[in-house]
Amino acid sequence: MLASRSLIATLRDDPGDAVVASHRLMIRAGLVRKLGAGLYHLLPMGLRTFRKIENVIREEMNAAGALEFQLPILTPSELWEQSGRWEKMGKEMMRFKDRHEVWNALGPTHEESFSSLVSELIKSYRDLPLNVYQIHTKFRDEIRPRFGVIRSREFCMKDAYSFDLDEKALDITYQKMRVAYRRIFARLGLSTVPVEADTGAMGGTGSEEFMVPSEIGEETLLVSENDKYRSNQEKTPVSYAKAGDFSAANQAAQPTGDLKGLERHHTPGMKTIADVAKHLNVAATAILKTVLYYADGKPVAVCLRGDRDVNEIKLSNHLDGATVLPATPQQIKELGSVIGFIGPLGLSKDARIVWDLSLTEGGPEWIVGANEAEYHCGGCVLDPARESVDLALAQAGDPSPAGDGVLKEIKGIEVGHIFKLGKKYTEAFKVTVQGEDGRPLTPVMGCYGVGVNRTMATIIEQWHDDKGILWPISAAPYEIALVSIAKGEDEIAKAREFYEALTAAGCDVLWDDRPARPGVKFGDAELIGYPIRLTMGKGYFQDGELEVVRRADGEQLKCSGDTAALVGQVLKLREELYAELEHNAAGAST
Ligand code: ATP
Ligand code: MG
Repeated sequence: MLASRSLIATLRDDPGDAVVASHRLMIRAGLVRKLGAGLYHLLPMGLRTFRKIENVIREEMNAAGALEFQLPILTPSELWEQSGRWEKMGKEMMRFKDRHEVWNALGPTHEESFSSLVSELIKSYRDLPLNVYQIHTKFRDEIRPRFGVIRSREFCMKDAYSFDLDEKALDITYQKMRVAYRRIFARLGLSTVPVEADTGAMGGTGSEEFMVPSEIGEETLLVSENDKYRSNQEKTPVSYAKAGDFSAANQAAQPTGDLKGLERHHTPGMKTIADVAKHLNVAATAILKTVLYYADGKPVAVCLRGDRDVNEIKLSNHLDGATVLPATPQQIKELGSVIGFIGPLGLSKDARIVWDLSLTEGGPEWIVGANEAEYHCGGCVLDPARESVDLALAQAGDPSPAGDGVLKEIKGIEVGHIFKLGKKYTEAFKVTVQGEDGRPLTPVMGCYGVGVNRTMATIIEQWHDDKGILWPISAAPYEIALVSIAKGEDEIAKAREFYEALTAAGCDVLWDDRPARPGVKFGDAELIGYPIRLTMGKGYFQDGELEVVRRADGEQLKCSGDTAALVGQVLKLREELYAELEHNAAGAST
């Protein structure tokens, strides 16, 4: 491609709304432009990278035996009603009525569509295992689109769905996809950490997210010291040394049932655990924290130790997947309490109380909110027969569930997600095959997603410096930039000849033939981040010396020889860059 016929839409200044490097660089390098909240145009340069990423994903999916489809983005409500998710999906799913007054949704995911389609396509156990996928647009009306294409509203996902005879066969497919995922990310220059993830609302039996460690990551991962345990904080169980070990005092104690007789503490304006602890000169662990929620519209009070926070995913799972929302100040009032002074005693009977496991360690007397402005009470003793469940958010310093020391926290960007789904959708869509014995069988499903745009941005997040992007060769818009500083027809003809030789040798080259200043051309090449830059200036036109610069580490080589020899040297460097990625992918396969 000739730069003069292409569109180098680079910008000198940072966009005002970009807070992360990938977003800033994608705009400045002319890969994308913003249309509106969570909506981005892909420009030709960006689309080239996008297609390369897509193709790496496609190659690995095909190699894993998956079959490519393309399904409509628009999905009739009927499908979602059949699975019971029309109600469940919430506001992220964009819904509207068409001209025939039929409700539709823009697909945020396609379990329903694929299950319904596959139910028509398979008949016998011999048709299994079946793994189907597409690389296509998804729409999610994200409440807070941000970080450019990392969290946008319209994006492209590779979503795959597998159908197997039984759990054992699903295990094999799942492992295959796990390897394919590791290979995809390694080939794209990303090193990923697979972590255990929550399976809650989707109702499956196993799930892993592929995380790229990054300071800007929105996910919190908890990892044990020697890496034996890795999980999303959402999912990490918290254990307590004394869980289940009720002290004699606790066993004997009766619940007081009301606040009468408890010691009252005046705590004016002290709405946080830290304030109250300081004022009363006690540890946060001496205080019982009560947090009010509405779960599918019904009030729930979560009681936990003062040093702990609620894990809303665990809470939702405990309440059969209910949608859990924090109570508003008005709702708190209606339940007979006051924000900042909530406690389990004297609260409206409508609120169901759930007890976190953390309360099994500590006590037996707790300081609680008095459900009255400016007051807390001390000496509250809990019913020892209460049911305790793990509802707390695990944190750094907690013991590793694998028994190897304590957990540490890292931030990560989720680029992919694999999931054992079970039979939820195959049952809902009556996907059955005839078994070997002639009886009908319901296959078990798995689902597997990779965000294409998010992967693109994550690569930049990992691979950039203060001058621009450092693309791994597999994802670069062009593998090679040929920057010529040619004067006169003769030199231009020589540069063209070299460009044509490179192209004929199978290289993906952008020839910057623009009549721009050398500084502008070099600046653009560094900003856009082509992995190999060839400079053709005085040295070449006078002495036949070509400068070859590797963008990733700035290493410069002076190459000389005839055109064929020079092309040979460039090809060799290109092969080395691909081989490095392939080596990582091979390592990731095991
Ligand atoms: P998140 O927790 O970040 O919202 P998710 O768990 O909802 O993601 P999945 O439903 O597992 O995501 O989707 C599979 C993949 O699609 C994700 O791993 C991610 O790469 C991509 N993805 C999901 N939501 C978005 C989005 N709003 N913008 C860009 N990519 C997305
Ligand atoms: Mg996910």
